[in-house]
Amino acid sequence: MTNPTSTYLDYAATTPVDRRVVEAMLPYFTEKFGNTSSVHRFGQQAETALEDARTTIAACLNCQPEEVLFTSCGSESDNLALRGLALAARRQRDANHILISPVEHHAVSHTADQLAEIFGFELELLPVDRFGLVSPRDLAARLRPDTALVSIIYANNEIGSVHRLAEFGSICRERSIPLHSDAVQAGAYLPVDVQRLQVDALSLGAHKFYGPKGIGALYLRSGIPIIATQTGGGHEFGLRAGTSNTPYAVGMAAALKWAQADLAGTGARLAAMRDHLIGQVLENIAEAQLTGHPDQRLPNHASFVFRGIDGNELLMMLDIAGFACSSGSACKTGLPEPSEVLTALGLSRDWALGSLRVTLGRATTPADIERFLPALTSAIDALRAG
Ligand SMILES: *Cc1c(COP(=O)(O)O)cnc(C)c1O
Repeated sequence: MTNPTSTYLDYAATTPVDRRVVEAMLPYFTEKFGNTSSVHRFGQQAETALEDARTTIAACLNCQPEEVLFTSCGSESDNLALRGLALAARRQRDANHILISPVEHHAVSHTADQLAEIFGFELELLPVDRFGLVSPRDLAARLRPDTALVSIIYANNEIGSVHRLAEFGSICRERSIPLHSDAVQAGAYLPVDVQRLQVDALSLGAHKFYGPKGIGALYLRSGIPIIATQTGGGHEFGLRAGTSNTPYAVGMAAALKWAQADLAGTGARLAAMRDHLIGQVLENIAEAQLTGHPDQRLPNHASFVFRGIDGNELLMMLDIAGFACSSGSACKTGLPEPSEVLTALGLSRDWALGSLRVTLGRATTPADIERFLPALTSAIDALRAG
């Protein structure tokens, strides 16, 4: 039986909605329920709230409000960016080559696969080092005049490694090739100033930073050619049809503003606990490795592989002991195959199948980590003895 008082250590999978965010959203479900497209005052009220939310997000991103599109989730933002930029680049300049990293979220990698298989684009994967990081030199060497777009993840959901996007941005900009980045994990912990990052498109998803599930945003630099992939009404500057989800947009804006307001403080508090956790695991558990970069990583993120362990069995044992963790990407649990991300790091199957991701968040305390460490050690001992 599952422990009824479970400790949540899976903040990279999703976060609870901040109560202040819930409060901000509530009026837009009931009294202020108008359709932003309506001419009357109900519509105007909703329209004002939507545009205020867009302006708040634009301020966090250091861009113009017209450069922020609301979508239904981070996955949709990735889909729109990849498909929309690729198809526009093909139409405008016959570009047929797509470059992505091999450590992308499936929302990027499977969209790129489909662009290759169904639409005939040539898909090329950039090399990564053992921490899952792309080097600027490798990107520069692979860019071609007919490259339609580049997509490189900002902060990796499975292994926590963080890319220095600005280095890629300046290379792409010199050649006028659009650079997209999946920043869904970054919203809660890293600066998302798109001018500094030098990206042309950037995906966010609200539920990773204490906002609601079911809403995301795509930053799209003004003037970058893109083709709408969801057509219909003229919502979101004609790029994403569908009646605007005003309450969720209001919630996403509030959540991003509060997450970005104290990046340094939150980051320092979580990184101290994360470093203690990583140090103790590597010291006390045999045949354990950290995955991802030791320092250039999300402050809340610890990820490991344990040789000869079945990652799913480990998760179930931890759940019974009262700890909610993940084996990498939440979408991959249940599949017997090792994750593509871990394989891209060069890990063999007997290591890669034994992955564990422990991600901390606002409610995590040092006492949680102290209780977690012996539970993890005994779970691994039991699995290795059995
Ligand atoms: C969670 C996540 C996504 C998907 O976002 P949704 O809003 O859940 O669709 C995409 N990329 C990364 C890196 C993520 O962590």
